[in-house]
Amino acid sequence: MFCKNCGAQIDDRAVICPKCGAATDNFRQASAPQADDAPSAGFAVLCFFFPVVGLILYLVWKDSMPMRARSCGKGALISVIVEAAACVFVIIFAFAAGGFAACVAGSYVALL
Ligand SMILES: [Zn+2]
Repeated sequence: MFCKNCGAQIDDRAVICPKCGAATDNFRQASAPQADDAPSAGFAVLCFFFPVVGLILYLVWKDSMPMRARSCGKGALISVIVEAAACVFVIIFAFAAGGFAACVAGSYVALL
């Protein structure tokens, strides 16, 4: 982007112009975060149980309330990991049970 004060080309993420020191459009965002933005355990728990809600809230808040958005994202992420782990456990258990059943069946066949 270009500095509104001196017109110099500056980094898009710059908070102030390195040439003249004027504040850029990023300055207000960087210096005045939203007052009600804070990590929220309540939202993290909500998003743990409803990961889709967590994803939506994360996308909605990631710019305006990054701290709260991160809580939501974390809750949703943990939820997905736990569910994936539970899924893997169930599959392993199913295979183990299936293997045991096959073993018992094989023993019966061998006895006959
Ligand atoms: Zn400037």
